[in-house]
Amino acid sequence: MKLIGCTGCRICEAVCGYHHTGTFCPAKSSIVVRDVEDGYNVERYFDALADEHTTCDRCVEPLCVKYCPKRDVLRAFLDLDKEGQNI
Ligand code: SF4
Ligand code: SF4
Repeated sequence: MKLIGCTGCRICEAVCGYHHTGTFCPAKSSIVVRDVEDGYNVERYFDALADEHTTCDRCVEPLCVKYCPKRDVLRAFLDLDKEGQNI
């Protein structure tokens, strides 16, 4: 899923890693922000919430959303995945 307006700060990865491990460890995050560059611009996408990464716990009060400066878009991403739609 393309994340319009994502700043690339990756706070979501760090705090999700914190949720899983108690340390700010992006490698343990359930969400991964991926940069796609065309030589002029950078677009950012989310990769899946599970697969080879730590499975998302569907937090009731998700730290990833709480600390994201674009939280409305991130919230929509989580809701889309929850409904089983193709992201
Ligand atoms: S989704 Fe939000 S927290 Fe994650 S990199 Fe983009 S702006 Fe930062
Ligand atoms: S809702 Fe999922 S992606 Fe967000 S902090 Fe919780 S486990 Fe991580």
